[in-house]
Amino acid sequence: MTFVITRSCCNDATCISVCPVNCIHPTPDEPDFGPAEMLYIDPDQCIDCGACVDACPVEAIAPDFDLPEGAEQFLAINAKYFEDPAHLDYAPVPVQRETTPITVTQDGALRVAIVGSGPAACYAAEALLDRSDLAVEVSMFERLPVPWGLVRYGVAPDHQQTKAVTKLFERTARRPDMAFYLNVEIGTHVSHDELLTRHHAVIYAVGAAHDRSMGIPGEHLRGSHSATEFVGWYNGHPDLAGTGFDLSCERAVIIGNGNVALDVARVLVSDVDELAKTDIAEHALETLAASNISEVMIIGRRGPAQAAYTISEMLSLNQVPTTEVVAYPEEAELDALTRAQLNSDPYSMAHVKAEIIKQLPSAQAKRRRAKRIVMRYRLSPVGIEGDASVQRVRLVRNHLAVGTDGVIVAEPTTQQELLDCGLVLRSVGYRGRPIAGLPFDGSTHRVPTRHGRVVREGTDEPVTGVYATGWIKRGPTGFIGTNKQDAQDTVDALLDDYAHDRLRNPQATCATLDELIGARQPAALRYQDWQVIDKHERSAPAGGPRPRIKLVTVEEMLKVAGRV
Ligand code: NAP
Repeated sequence: MTFVITRSCCNDATCISVCPVNCIHPTPDEPDFGPAEMLYIDPDQCIDCGACVDACPVEAIAPDFDLPEGAEQFLAINAKYFEDPAHLDYAPVPVQRETTPITVTQDGALRVAIVGSGPAACYAAEALLDRSDLAVEVSMFERLPVPWGLVRYGVAPDHQQTKAVTKLFERTARRPDMAFYLNVEIGTHVSHDELLTRHHAVIYAVGAAHDRSMGIPGEHLRGSHSATEFVGWYNGHPDLAGTGFDLSCERAVIIGNGNVALDVARVLVSDVDELAKTDIAEHALETLAASNISEVMIIGRRGPAQAAYTISEMLSLNQVPTTEVVAYPEEAELDALTRAQLNSDPYSMAHVKAEIIKQLPSAQAKRRRAKRIVMRYRLSPVGIEGDASVQRVRLVRNHLAVGTDGVIVAEPTTQQELLDCGLVLRSVGYRGRPIAGLPFDGSTHRVPTRHGRVVREGTDEPVTGVYATGWIKRGPTGFIGTNKQDAQDTVDALLDDYAHDRLRNPQATCATLDELIGARQPAALRYQDWQVIDKHERSAPAGGPRPRIKLVTVEEMLKVAGRV
């Protein structure tokens, strides 16, 4: 018997640190860890002790004889990773992880402010507060009255298992050396300089959740939105809850085929009775219940082997009842260039990715279910057309070529296709925004960093006491757990600076911070206030199938917290 890692794997590697035989790979110190879609258990080395099951924050691990429905393929997917002889070189010895001891001569605690309360912020707080050899105090700032960032507002509502990671974050948030300030915006209520003078260091973990445009005509038409808006809307983000979505058309088109595109497609075609068992926003549930959309087309500009989605998320698309996932056989077929590349790397997981699409029923066959998702490949949008609102998308067929860095890229041909639709969602990635008082790289849309230290633009010169982690540091890539190692790296750099006296001592006390916040933002909330909101949201559906009914305006949240 072996344990198997399944779809909701968050890559935070907690399982690796408890495995007594080091049978879970890639580990954070192995070269494949960064780009890995998920972690895998070696079936030949697993001693079925179950330690990983208990440690996994998102309930992604199950025994091979008791895999959840639809997760059966993960047994072969886990085993496939270890078919590559390069992956067998990793000796199955117990993992010994040590933290570098730090000797500091300063009195008092190391005081760190963390801006943001999503996964990157919470993992950074955990990495700091877990140091048993140091006194550390963390102040965490969130501009909304509720915490957890993308876990609350990004993760799809039908992925409740993934949201279970907040249990870890709650544990950190409840620690006595952690002060939570909600509904406080750095740059509005407290400036960067004011924050820095009250702490040894500030870590920015503000994410990069702003949408990108495609730069094609018609993007402004009614019915053309970013996936970011749609995700924020169905997840009840206060900034986006009021966005109107017209779902009266029959076909929606999603541009881009990353995991966000798949999330959005699933939500558009899901059975509303199933969504009603999740924490999807009430307004979204009502709109989706009246939706006429029966077909969603997901447009990838490259081929099935280069798709940006992960294998596990592609497999979960196939789990939506009443919906079939189909593809055009000629688009599922690999082009000669990709075939040659895959032939030279027989162990690449891209084989699995391509095979899944090849096995899909043909889009030309008669429909077997009421709704369908059509996976399209080697197509790029060149315009969105319609009188006042979206009526069609103009696509150009691409052929694949080798780009300058050896990566396969899409190049347009002269062949075009017009696709009738009433809704276009562009899901072409995210970007970060500049932060007042900090350097910003406008070409990567990130704060420039070296090992987590914020550096002056175009230099390696660190800005004393200022750090970044998560998407604002590395860009919008990876999974929730990817932030754990990322945050650890940033915290290691910060602690190294602290140990070598490279940080300035705070010029003012914590009490002055509270005074400042009290004066500038009387509606600031603390963690206990969030607990009141949390309890209210969870208790609203008493007896019903919904885990919580989200409050979707700041006013409602403040009212429940007793602040208005
Ligand atoms: P993503 O994975 O970077 O995908 C972006 C997609 O947009 C790609 O298909 C890309 O194509 C395409 N694209 C970019 N510019 C385009 C253009 N001008 N025209 C046409 N297509 C274009 O981004 P994402 O889906 O927003 O996800 C962000 C991160 O969050 C990813 O790391 C993702 O895995 C993660 N995430 C994970 C989950 C999960 O684990 N369940 C859920 C949601 C998000 P190319 O590949 O050709 O560049």
